[in-house]
Amino acid sequence: MQNITVIGAGTMGNGIAHVFAQRGYKVALVDISENALEKALATIDKNLARMVAKEKITETDKSKTLANISTTTDMTGGLANADLAVEAATENVDLKLSIFSDMDRLTRTDTILATNTSSISITKIAAVTAHPEKVIGMHFMNPVPIMKLVEVIRGYSTSDETTRIVMELSESLNKTPVEVNDYPGFVANRILMPMINEAIYTLFEGVAGVAEIDTVMKLGMAHPMGPLQLADFIGLDVCLSILHVLHDGFGNPKYAPCPLLVNMVQAGKMGRKSGEGFYTYDHGTKDLIVSRQFK
Ligand code: NAD
Repeated sequence: MQNITVIGAGTMGNGIAHVFAQRGYKVALVDISENALEKALATIDKNLARMVAKEKITETDKSKTLANISTTTDMTGGLANADLAVEAATENVDLKLSIFSDMDRLTRTDTILATNTSSISITKIAAVTAHPEKVIGMHFMNPVPIMKLVEVIRGYSTSDETTRIVMELSESLNKTPVEVNDYPGFVANRILMPMINEAIYTLFEGVAGVAEIDTVMKLGMAHPMGPLQLADFIGLDVCLSILHVLHDGFGNPKYAPCPLLVNMVQAGKMGRKSGEGFYTYDHGTKDLIVSRQFK
C-alpha cells in the first residue's frame, strides 16, 4: 500500500493527506475547487511548521512530507494509481453516492474505498459500488494530525481482509484504530451527540447556565472541553444533522433534538464557524454569551 488518494481537501481532507504524507505514503489530494486545494496545502505547511517549531519533526521531514503530496481537480487522474482512496468530501448523501460510483469506476478492482463520513451509512454507500466488500468507514477525528482515534466502520458487506488492511494502515499512521459495526452514529457520535443534546436540554430547561454546565463536565468528568463548547467547535448544524440521523435511524424519541438547538441553527448561530453559538468568537477566543434564550 503506497498510493493514497484523498477526495475532498477541506478541514478533514487536508489533515488526512498530512498524516499519510508524513508517514511516507504518496498522496494525491483531489477537490473540485482549486482554491480549496491551495488552502489545504497552506494549512498543511502551517501545521508542519508548528511541529518543526516544537521540535517534533525536522525541517527535512517537513520538506519530505510536502513533496509526497500532489493536488489535482481531475478525479480520473487523481484516482488512477490509488491503492486506497479516502473520501472526505462534503457531508451530503447524494454527493457521496455519486463520488463512490465514480471511485468504483475509476479505480482498480483491488483498490480499497474508504469514507470519512460522520453519519452516513457505510452499507448504503457501498451498495452503489460493484465491490461492497472493499468499502469501509475510516472516521478520523478533527484535528486529524493530533487526534489518535480512527473509528474503522464495517459495512454490512465489508470483508475481513479489507478491515484488516485498514486497521494495519491506521496503525502505520501512529493512530489507534477501533473496529465498529455500521449502525446510525457508529460509536463516537451515538454516544457524543446524545450527551451534547442533553447538555442543551439542561440549559433549555434552566437547570444551569452555559458556563456552569461546561464547568461541571470539564472538572467533574475530566473532559478537556465542556459539551456546549464542543458543540460550538463541531458546528451546531452538524450536531443537529447527526441527531436527525440517530432519530430517523433508530426511530427512538430519546434522540429528538432539543428545540433550542433547532432554533439556534435556524437563526444562523452555528458555533465557532459562524462566530456565535453558546459562546461568541469575536476576539479569536471564546467569550461567554449571557443570552435571554439561555436563562
Ligand atoms: P469541508 O466542508 O471542510 O470540506 C469538504 C470539501 O469537499 C470541500 O473542499 C469541497 O470543495 C470538497 N468537495 C465537494 N464536492 C466534491 C467533489 N465532488 N469532489 C471532490 N471534492 C469535493 O468538510 P469537512 O469538515 O472536511 O468534512 C468532510 C467529511 O468528513 C464529511 O463527511 C464529514 O462528515 C466528515 N467529518 C468531519 C469532521 C469535522 O470535525 N469537520 C470530523 C469527522 C468527520
